[in-house]
Amino acid sequence: MFPLRTPTYDVAVVGAGIVGLATADALAREGARVLVIETEREVALHQTGHNSGVIHSGLYYRPDSQKARLCRTGRTLLLQFCKERNVPVDVCGKLVVATREEEIPRLEALEQRGMANGLLGLERLGPSQIREREPHAAGLDGLLVPETGIVDFRRVAQALAERCREHSVTIRTEAQLHKVDVASDLTLQTNAGSFHSDSLVNCAGLEADRVARMCGLKPHVTLVPFRGEYYRMVPSQRELIRHVLYPVPDPSLPFLGVHFTRTVDGEVEIGPNAVLAGSRTGYARGDVKWADLVDMLRSKGFLRMAWSHRRTGLAEWMRSRSTRSSLEAMQRLLPTLHRQDIERAGSGVRAQAVSSEGKLLDDFVLLRGMHSLHVLNAPSPAATAALAIGAELADRLSSDGKQPTG
Ligand SMILES: Cc1cc2nc3c(=O)[nH]c(=O)nc-3n(C[C@H](O)[C@H](O)[C@H](O)COP(=O)(O)OP(=O)(O)OC[C@H]3O[C@@H](n4cnc5c(N)ncnc54)[C@H](O)[C@@H]3O)c2cc1C
Repeated sequence: MFPLRTPTYDVAVVGAGIVGLATADALAREGARVLVIETEREVALHQTGHNSGVIHSGLYYRPDSQKARLCRTGRTLLLQFCKERNVPVDVCGKLVVATREEEIPRLEALEQRGMANGLLGLERLGPSQIREREPHAAGLDGLLVPETGIVDFRRVAQALAERCREHSVTIRTEAQLHKVDVASDLTLQTNAGSFHSDSLVNCAGLEADRVARMCGLKPHVTLVPFRGEYYRMVPSQRELIRHVLYPVPDPSLPFLGVHFTRTVDGEVEIGPNAVLAGSRTGYARGDVKWADLVDMLRSKGFLRMAWSHRRTGLAEWMRSRSTRSSLEAMQRLLPTLHRQDIERAGSGVRAQAVSSEGKLLDDFVLLRGMHSLHVLNAPSPAATAALAIGAELADRLSSDGKQPTG
């Protein structure tokens, strides 16, 4: 008897979040035999299923960045996809408001950046125009961004998984990759058995640096988990917000600041903050995994980053423990908000890449290995950009004849 060998795939995609599924979809539509392996029992249970649900317009990103390019293209592809697959979307627009004099030049800079990125319909609003659109919001100066929308990214991922299956993609859930053997092809060892494939695309989100190491690479980044905690408006007060309402972001951080977002299901969420988490799946405050902590403490980049952002980090940590100080931050945008109008809601954990110099990396980071491609930094707006990221990864693989080399 010959030993039975599992089928060989052209490409194995690690991770069934929105980026992995978009990549599998793009590859399968080019005719590749694709396997997706996913640790969890369902798709989209991590970042993709725990985010703000904002379809970003491309306002914030440096014009020459991958974020700017892929967000604009990805947004268009996402809107088309949602239309085709009946996933509810609302292009409701957003308001970014400056509540302090010193934020006004930064709002101006954002407007310039938006124009450089080709955003349509940007409009500056004075205090009375802000109130016309958002009667309860405060603001000295505002920027209306009509192209922003809202969607439930978990539903988008489920619809993508459906389209993948229609194109014969195999999605193996409850299969965690723990080892990769490189010979004439790749043998992927998982807790659900071994799989063979010619190449691999690493879309493992919070675990992407570890998967890159399994493939023999030494990634120059460490992934640091930042929890984003949300509140929600109690049902009787949801009408306080009509659009999506954002503050002017702090330019020294890659996070956008606590914002108010209507969801497609009619709720209003407030958040997320950005608190260092004790685990890569640290959704609750007490969640700590020693292996994750040890990895962070061993990383020079992490230690440098933690030292240089110690004041902001500590302030954010204290605020996360106190509803009163979180409320004060929210009241800068919505002064009429009261304690009884909000309640704590869920959280998400971001995979934020930190360089060995201790920099919080802003742009997407893609790394090429032998027979593999690795998505090492795909923070917001990667959910918006996912279909464009997937198409780009598929292109890079096919231009290398599905055999990328270092
Ligand atoms: C709080 C928060 C708010 C955000 N808000 C927005 C927003 O409004 N708009 C926007 O565009 N973006 C937003 N983002 C960013 C967006 O959610 C992410 O950029 C996007 O979801 C990344 O998708 P992903 O597929 O790379 O990662 P994930 O969704 O995390 O998927 C990675 C998958 O890989 C799997 N995996 C990991 N290791 C292994 C392994 N060894 N073997 C098998 N499988 C493995 C995981 O189980 C997981 O399912 C937000 C993120 C957060 C956390």
